Amino acid sequence: MSQNGAFETLRAHTVAMAWTAYDEVKAGPDGLNAFLSVDRDATGAASGLLAGVPVAIKDNLTTLTLPTTCGSRILEGYVSPFEATAVRKLREAGAAIIGKTNMDEFAMGSSNENSAYGAVKNPLDHTRVPGGSSGGSAAAVAAGVVRVALGSETGGSVRQPAAFCGIVGIKPTYGRVSRYGLVAYASSLDNVGVLGATVADAAAVLQVIAGHDPYDSTSADVPVPDLVPAPNSTDKPLAGLVVGKPREYFPDSLDPRIAAHCERALQQLERLGAEVREVSLPSTALAIPVYYVIAPAEASSNLARYDGVRYGVRQVAGDLPQMYERTRSSGFGDEVTRRILLGTYVLSAGYYDAYYKRAQAVRSLIAQEFADVFSSGVHLLFTPTAPTPAFRLGDVSEPYKMYLSDIFTVTANLAGIPAMSQPIGRVDGMPVGGQFMAAAFDEPTMLRAAAALEHALSLEDNT
Ligand code: GLN
Repeated sequence: MSQNGAFETLRAHTVAMAWTAYDEVKAGPDGLNAFLSVDRDATGAASGLLAGVPVAIKDNLTTLTLPTTCGSRILEGYVSPFEATAVRKLREAGAAIIGKTNMDEFAMGSSNENSAYGAVKNPLDHTRVPGGSSGGSAAAVAAGVVRVALGSETGGSVRQPAAFCGIVGIKPTYGRVSRYGLVAYASSLDNVGVLGATVADAAAVLQVIAGHDPYDSTSADVPVPDLVPAPNSTDKPLAGLVVGKPREYFPDSLDPRIAAHCERALQQLERLGAEVREVSLPSTALAIPVYYVIAPAEASSNLARYDGVRYGVRQVAGDLPQMYERTRSSGFGDEVTRRILLGTYVLSAGYYDAYYKRAQAVRSLIAQEFADVFSSGVHLLFTPTAPTPAFRLGDVSEPYKMYLSDIFTVTANLAGIPAMSQPIGRVDGMPVGGQFMAAAFDEPTMLRAAAALEHALSLEDNT
């Protein structure tokens, strides 16, 4: 799809259509619980690439028109005095910000069950989770309310819910999209991401929000190339492309039905002209442990600001330390509290070297392994997005089991590289996601391959 075609498709889904779908699928608290707040008066602008396009925003991106709660009691009713750069860019392109979406509290979770405002239901099966932490955004797209929504990623929170809901989710290169106005969870891993009904939809919105921002010191000062893939001009559009199949992402324990869908997708990539090559990323098994040292460490520092003085809710009590304690104990949910404790522990004197420093060293190793693969002539990697399809609400109660949902996604955040998920088939009626990863700033190659694969799989489904 050309740039113009992609934006035309987005503009064809109007705000009025969004509300009709919203009411029909009961996207609000009485149904899917995908939205935490809505603006029925949002219209967008009359002109611009996204003129009048309804967009939903994860509730950890600040907006002037609606509250930003991060799915937490501690920020209940909080309205930011400034707007996230990604949101501002959407508005400048004419988009209508129709609502803020439900999420795991402070983006910590993989099922959206950690929201203080209740779980989100998967629109494809209301007994199942939509994934997390951007579960509300994924559900809003999958239910047809919006074609595109913003989410955030620290370890897979856009890709995993996209996989669970049968849509497309893109996590760009670290620094490609400004984090200004994205409420910090683990700053060295956090990204703004896009969820879309199709590759072109998501790519078009990424095109609008990408770019350097002086308000984010980690934003990359590099030009933004054309991201919306051009239509295929030959039947071998991926000729010359080498797609790596990292063996650590296809363990013997992988659900054979998910493995089979990945194989089918890899065969399609070959039919489209790509060469598939087996590669190895030996430190992959260390990614989850490393992530669960670094992410809580950063979170424990970032979340220190919720002290009842500056933001949101305050529980008045005795003296100042008692006020802090009461506010934080009642304002944060169990998972957030667990992460703050864990993070404080790994950063404490005596443990810092043993845990945090070592985790940083392994993180560098993981990043180096990706860099080595991408400099050895491999352009992209293809893997499953998640080890299972969407599970049932309440089924995964052990934190460590929940953490393993992100086993194939956290690596891209640790390495800072772009990655995305797209639907590649179904297991027991639920969608399965396939993941592409690319070298830093090579979103164009990733999106081109994703669009070609999406097209090929759609033809296969029709026969
Ligand atoms: N599930 C992971 C976590 O809980 C990733 C979340 C995210 O990407 N925001 O930290």
